[in-house]
Amino acid sequence: MHQLVNSSVFSVTSVQVCHVPHDEHTQLTVKNTPGAPATFSILAVLLTVCCLSVCSSIFSRAVQFLLQLKRSAVSVSVTEEKMDPVEVFAAGEKGRGLRVTKEMSAGEVVFAEASFAAVVLDSLSLQVCHSCFRRKVNPHRCAQCKFAHYCDRTCQRAAWDEHKQECSAIKQIGKAPNENVRLVARILWRIQKDTGLVSDAQLTTLDLLQDHLSQMSSEDLKELKVDVQHFYNYWPKKSKPVGEDYVTHLFGVMNCNGFRLSDQRGPQAVGVGLFPNLCLVNHDCWPNCSVILNPGNQTALDTSLHSKSRIELRALGKISEGEELTISYVDFLNVSKDRQQLLKKQYYFDCKCEHCSSGIKDELMTAVRDTDGHKPSADVVKAVTDFSLQAVVKIEEARTEGNFHEVVKLCRECLEKQDPVFGDTNLHLLHVLSIASEVLSLMHQSSEAAGYAQRVLDGYTKLYPPYNAQLGMTLMRAGVTHWHAGLIETAHSLVCRAYAILIITHGAHHPVTKDLEAMRTQTEMELRLFKQNESVYRSTREAVLSDKPLMMSGEQIKAT
Ligand SMILES: [Zn+2]
Ligand SMILES: [Zn+2]
Ligand SMILES: [Zn+2]
Repeated sequence: MHQLVNSSVFSVTSVQVCHVPHDEHTQLTVKNTPGAPATFSILAVLLTVCCLSVCSSIFSRAVQFLLQLKRSAVSVSVTEEKMDPVEVFAAGEKGRGLRVTKEMSAGEVVFAEASFAAVVLDSLSLQVCHSCFRRKVNPHRCAQCKFAHYCDRTCQRAAWDEHKQECSAIKQIGKAPNENVRLVARILWRIQKDTGLVSDAQLTTLDLLQDHLSQMSSEDLKELKVDVQHFYNYWPKKSKPVGEDYVTHLFGVMNCNGFRLSDQRGPQAVGVGLFPNLCLVNHDCWPNCSVILNPGNQTALDTSLHSKSRIELRALGKISEGEELTISYVDFLNVSKDRQQLLKKQYYFDCKCEHCSSGIKDELMTAVRDTDGHKPSADVVKAVTDFSLQAVVKIEEARTEGNFHEVVKLCRECLEKQDPVFGDTNLHLLHVLSIASEVLSLMHQSSEAAGYAQRVLDGYTKLYPPYNAQLGMTLMRAGVTHWHAGLIETAHSLVCRAYAILIITHGAHHPVTKDLEAMRTQTEMELRLFKQNESVYRSTREAVLSDKPLMMSGEQIKAT
């Protein structure tokens, strides 16, 4: 399997297909909170049966009864399966799905949702704020547990409600457990506090989400059981006891529904969270929506202007009333068979989307060079493919070690073999070109980096859907590389193209879009100057660069 990018920008999106039997006219689901008295469990089952039956009078009495229960705040909670402008429906083989109840247009937010619970990944726990998920140099540390880190006291205060039980549990055992355990514990503390329902806008309950435990390999199941054990070491005696079956269910749910959060800097995930409504959106390799984490705003002096971090489901084009909403759980840049395998392994379903069924774009992704009607033989293609796979392993090793000169050397060697054999859209070729471009631009060899970036973009443009976040981010980075190389005309046009995509996939208020807008103003101004007088432009540029590097969300892009 060749994956061009480590993880897609809004990466391997949560979600799964839920096969819970479901009647699309059922307006209610019943949540059986763990630890609820047995009578309520039976009641819940009975009421579910009632809801699923066609008997409208029993149904309406059940509705009334449930609403009463909800008002009296007992351990059974009710979920409306409609929330303007979406509703849950039975999506055939795929189980439940979400569809729109009115027409949506490109860039519109279908819905926004705060996480039910989310945690920072273990590997980044010292570098990423545990409240807003932004990266931070020298973050402020929680004095109690010494584990949680925050941008500042504002972020710490905002997170305290979710952190306080975790804080004392970590202090108790002296060490924070892994991210899965921390997340499941946070989910359970929240369930115990809110009886499992975030708000009336939640379309499903955690009990109804699929855990796919029965489909897991014995190895994965063993790993999951280890996490369950760690969970019990961590779960404080003073918190309400939870049954092992329910804890195992939650670990299973997280395994296939955990949504990887990426920060404002791009593709690398920084955290993982659970977003119940998002879990209802089914997969399509060529989707009509994309998901983006909006980190919200906790920095304004006036706290009434603060907003919580949330995911946004954004329409990528016109979606007609009644049409199913879809997102892609995997990066499109894999041939159909590899995407299907990936989806089966991680999400336990066989993708039958149009692109997989007809193998659309597979030919482009495996293209071979056609020189005046002459194509390389199958043996040559296989030899270069095998060579590429091995080379990429070595290249990645060198990159991990930070040995950039070695990376560039290996990439050049590989490209020499690939160029006469692979076509411009071949995934093996694009993979090496993108690594070469990225590393060369880190080494400030911008002209060569810009050349490779251009080839990557030409390939991506033919492969990706027109509004794809990964394509937008690649355009943005290529714009910066060209700008560093002094190629202002191309730089400005790339930045404009990136902006046209990000305004749809990220929205105007997202920090990345705002950065891009600032960049566009800058390149526009420079382009004007360049057209007026090239030599004045060059000298002004040198002066600006030596003084003030271009900023991108706190990340300094050093001038060449
Ligand atoms: Zn923060
Ligand atoms: Zn703490
Ligand atoms: Zn597919």
